[in-house]
Amino acid sequence: MQQSNVQASLRLGAFFMGALAAASSAAAFQVLPKVSDVDRKISTMGRNPVLDYLGHWFVGSAIPIMKSPVHESITLAAIGCNASLGSESECVTLEAVREHRILLYGVRWPDDPPFQLNAKSPPRIKGCDTGVTLRSTSQPLCWWGLFSDAGAQAKKKAYIKNPAFGPGDYMLYRSHYGDLQFMHAMGTYDGESAGDTVSRMRMWAEFLWGIASGTTSTGAYIRELGNSPLAAYFPGDITATNLFATGIVEVRKDLDKVAMGAFLHMVQDSFSNAHAERGQETGASCGATGFGKPGQIQRFRSYAKQSSTSHDEADTPKALGLHTMQISPSAVDVSRTFLKLWQEKKSWTDASVFFDCVFEPKDRTIEADAGPYEATRKAAAQTDPSRQ
Ligand SMILES: [Zn+2]
Repeated sequence: MQQSNVQASLRLGAFFMGALAAASSAAAFQVLPKVSDVDRKISTMGRNPVLDYLGHWFVGSAIPIMKSPVHESITLAAIGCNASLGSESECVTLEAVREHRILLYGVRWPDDPPFQLNAKSPPRIKGCDTGVTLRSTSQPLCWWGLFSDAGAQAKKKAYIKNPAFGPGDYMLYRSHYGDLQFMHAMGTYDGESAGDTVSRMRMWAEFLWGIASGTTSTGAYIRELGNSPLAAYFPGDITATNLFATGIVEVRKDLDKVAMGAFLHMVQDSFSNAHAERGQETGASCGATGFGKPGQIQRFRSYAKQSSTSHDEADTPKALGLHTMQISPSAVDVSRTFLKLWQEKKSWTDASVFFDCVFEPKDRTIEADAGPYEATRKAAAQTDPSRQ
């Protein structure tokens, strides 16, 4: 490490330690099992161990999507946990996290997919080491730098009727701000029709179900998996193994669980008001399946013009508690049903009957918008760190 880098690290370190001291009393309640840190060890071997050590704290406790284990709570409640309705966060115990580590890695994957940095043209962002696979846990400061950059770029492109990022861009950019936002039950741009969004979600669900049930190859290039329209999203030499486990060897023998986790992530996001607007549940069943029908999708949301702060408020444990106490079938109930269908080894033909009932929008032509989460230009500049 060069002298100037050491000084910069120390300065940044002092900043983080100051912030840590200031926030320690609040942070004490937010210390959570790090559910997806299967790759954390490699960060100690990269070029920025000091920055990364501090960055773990920063990313894990200051960034809402990373600190709130809402998906983990829903998933563990769906698997079975004695917590009462509204107290799902009590399901997130170290023991439960250890037992279901790989499924929870999958549940977290759409928020934090691992990928390689471009060594020929490395990002000009502090803390980025092209020799280490990028995830929030392996290179937290680099991750945050890229996440902020993606947000800033996407905001500038918010008024074009196309996804801000696509094939060739980093997974982090595509998943949060680009063409893969269907993984979070959202439109990929402002103005996308609900029919297009749900078709993309269904394409993704079919692929995930195939991996989860072992009928789709994890070693074949995705572009060669029959005539799946997913090929257009992954035109290069990328397999399901690359997609889900780049740089993370230890989950590769359990990609079925990883895929099921990613499937549940999309299901769960569709119950967040910042992702999709659902009507009231009617008490009706999903046809012959016998499972309850959740409130119908009225429209999907688009992140492009949303305030990230108000978006994140819809994804907190408190919002989840209000949801599960008042709504049935809830995100937990629907997650449980899909887990049951998976454990019973149902084919996609069978599972898709329930999928269509859960996701079919009321009107396929209605366009995605920011909804009540729209950022005013002034407020966005004040509250969104990704904006200049
Ligand atoms: Zn999501």
